[in-house]
Amino acid sequence: MGNQVGGAFVVYYNNQEIYHSCFRLSNHASVYLAELTAISTALDYVAVNNISQANIISDARSVLLALENPNNLEPHTVALKHKLVNLSGKIQLYWIKAHVGFAGNEKADEYAKQATTQQSIDIATSINIHVVKNLIKRELMVNWQHRWDSSTKGRSVYSLFPKVSTNRVQGDFFLNQLITGHGALAIYQQRFFGKTANCRCGHPIEDIHHIIYVCPLWDSIREKFFPRNFQSVKRELLLFNSISKTGLKEIMCNKLQTPLQELEDEGDVLGGGLVPLWLGRHGCPVSAARFLGVLGGVAVVAWLISFACLSACRYTY
Ligand SMILES: [Zn+2]
Repeated sequence: MGNQVGGAFVVYYNNQEIYHSCFRLSNHASVYLAELTAISTALDYVAVNNISQANIISDARSVLLALENPNNLEPHTVALKHKLVNLSGKIQLYWIKAHVGFAGNEKADEYAKQATTQQSIDIATSINIHVVKNLIKRELMVNWQHRWDSSTKGRSVYSLFPKVSTNRVQGDFFLNQLITGHGALAIYQQRFFGKTANCRCGHPIEDIHHIIYVCPLWDSIREKFFPRNFQSVKRELLLFNSISKTGLKEIMCNKLQTPLQELEDEGDVLGGGLVPLWLGRHGCPVSAARFLGVLGGVAVVAWLISFACLSACRYTY
C-alpha cells in the first residue's frame, strides 16, 4: 500500500482459522517477492510444526509459474524450490483467483494490508537487479503521470485517458484521428499546413466535435450506427462502443476518400505528381499527401507504444 510492501499467510484447519502470520518487507521489495515470501514462511510453519500434509493455496500466479519453470534461476525462487524439495510429499500447491471472495484469500489479503502499516520492517531484502528494474519502472510511471497531468499538449487524448498505463495501446488508424484531433480534420490541416479549417458542409470549423456530432454529411452513417440519443453520449463512449465505433471508422474512411478525389482534381500533390498509397487496412485508399497529413495521428500511436515498452505497472498491498 503506497510504498509499503507486506505479505501474510493464514492457516485453516477444519475450516477454522488457527494461525496467521504477517510481515512487512523493505519498501523496495517487489510484489513478487512479497508473495514468494508468504509461501516461504508458510512452508517454514509446516516444517516447524511437523505437519504431515498441507495444501498451500495462493493467488500468486507468477510465483507458482516460476516454481514450475526449471530455467528460472532467480535466487529467492531457487531457495523456495529447495524448501519444497525438503518438504517433498507434504505439500500441494494450488492457485486461486484473487479478490473474488474466497474467505482464506481475503483474510490473508487483510493481514498483508495490516502489515504494511507496521512501523518497522520485519524482513529486510537486498536490492538485486529485479528490484532496481522495478524501482526504475515505478519512478518512470510516476514521472510519466506527472508530465501527462501538467502538459499542455495532447489534451484531447488526456480527456479520454487521464491515467497513464502501459497496458493500453490504441492503434486504430481512423479512430486515433478522432482521439487525438490530428490527421484528416480540417482544423488540424489549417494548424499545420495553413489550409482552410472549413468543413465541406459549409461549417467554418471541422474539428472532432463537428465530425462526431454535427456535420450533416455523416447523418446517414450516424443513423445507421449511433444510438438515437448520441448527442448526449460522451465521445469516449461512442469511440469505444463496438457499434458506434464502426460508424466513426466509416465516417473517417469516407472523409479520407473524398479529399483524395479533390486532391487529384486540384493537382495538390507532393512533388507535382500524386503518389497513390494503399494502406492495407479497412480497404481505404489514401494518397501519400493525405497519408503525410495524418502522420500526426500515427505518431501519437507510436508514442503510446513507445511508452508501453518503457515500464510495467506494479501492484503493492
Ligand atoms: Zn461539416
